[in-house]
Amino acid sequence: MDAVEKLRTVSAHMGLEPAEDYQPPAGSAHRGASLDQRAPAELRRLANESAPYTTPALCDDKQRALGVSYAAMPGGKRIALLKTLLTSACERNCFYCPFRAGRDFRRVTFKPEEMARAFLQLQQSRVAEGLFLSSGIMHGGARIQDKLIAVAEVLRFKLGFKGYIHLKIMPGAERAQVERAMQLADRVSINLEAPNTHRLAALAPLKEFTEELVQPLRWVEEIRRTQPARFGWNGRWPSSTTQFVVGAAGETDLELLSTTEALHKQTRLARAYFSAFHPLPDTPLEHQPAENPWREFRLYQSSFLLRDYGFGVEELPFTPAGNLPLDVDPKVAWAQRNLSEAPVEINRADRQTLLRVPGIGPKGVEAVLSARRQHTLRDLRDLKALGVIVRRAAPYILLDGRQPARQLSLF
Ligand code: SF4
Repeated sequence: MDAVEKLRTVSAHMGLEPAEDYQPPAGSAHRGASLDQRAPAELRRLANESAPYTTPALCDDKQRALGVSYAAMPGGKRIALLKTLLTSACERNCFYCPFRAGRDFRRVTFKPEEMARAFLQLQQSRVAEGLFLSSGIMHGGARIQDKLIAVAEVLRFKLGFKGYIHLKIMPGAERAQVERAMQLADRVSINLEAPNTHRLAALAPLKEFTEELVQPLRWVEEIRRTQPARFGWNGRWPSSTTQFVVGAAGETDLELLSTTEALHKQTRLARAYFSAFHPLPDTPLEHQPAENPWREFRLYQSSFLLRDYGFGVEELPFTPAGNLPLDVDPKVAWAQRNLSEAPVEINRADRQTLLRVPGIGPKGVEAVLSARRQHTLRDLRDLKALGVIVRRAAPYILLDGRQPARQLSLF
């Protein structure tokens, strides 16, 4: 089978993670949010209403068949990214995974040089611009990690590829391998899949939460902290991300977001991805219902509140069962409880307080701070011109001492 046919075979089974998937444009209230294309149209419509999401440019059929999709890079630029596996064979048995051991389908394996050359061919023919490389595990994670590193080494040093590479860190990888991957890649990631040991046991009984999954994320941060950035690719250390499967192990949103918050604080995680569970035939979870995509969306919104808006996990509006309400934006829910009786004076509030107002994102805060140095903001039109979503902000603010609610009919 030639390399292109192998890529098609892998792609046919891939529901790979949403890493780097599309993002809303700069300045939106929830920059960085991703809403899976599987989400119902109504959810996407509402998402567009609450934050101006862009529709991702679609790859053509040929690209999609190979596993190429448009993705947002850490700086916001969008490129055609080949997401693929070095091997679709795996000795592990994660309950949600299409590649789990024992599942009956045709497996393919690339040699490192073969993968590197196949990608370069796609890049030179403008089918793909960047590479996201993961793998099934055979003969232990360390052995596969060496091969993933070898692909990146061939691309960087033999074939002269200078573009985007995201390398997966395998469970069981060694510290020196993590360091080498960081010298070659623009981004590295390790999927935790679940928020703690107990939940992981219900999803992936052969993975060890702390030793195999959390520890490499700690190493990444330790290396970034203790070694000069010039050792990283292009003089920068890569960012790090993780992913959770949502809704397959009985985990609560509180558990997921507590772990996310700890990772942001302790390992400077760039981003947590949440992937709503979808049952696959011939897996132990095939009869379990799919997770509601609204849950995934609320988790993204909340994770941005933790990462970019100064919220603590204990401030999020969890139900007594530890989950987020699905019918309300978590920032709005917080504002309803905390700002309805104590609206924020836009002309005097500090940066952190402004960030708490629905409809005002980090860029909007900077715009407000800059504009009010020039003149007093008295009108919703002033705020709209600064990028604030005034319909959302109006119930919770004062403009020069007045509630602007009556102006709302103009918007
Ligand atoms: S180790 Fe990875 S590829 Fe293998 S079954 Fe688990 S999730 Fe799937």
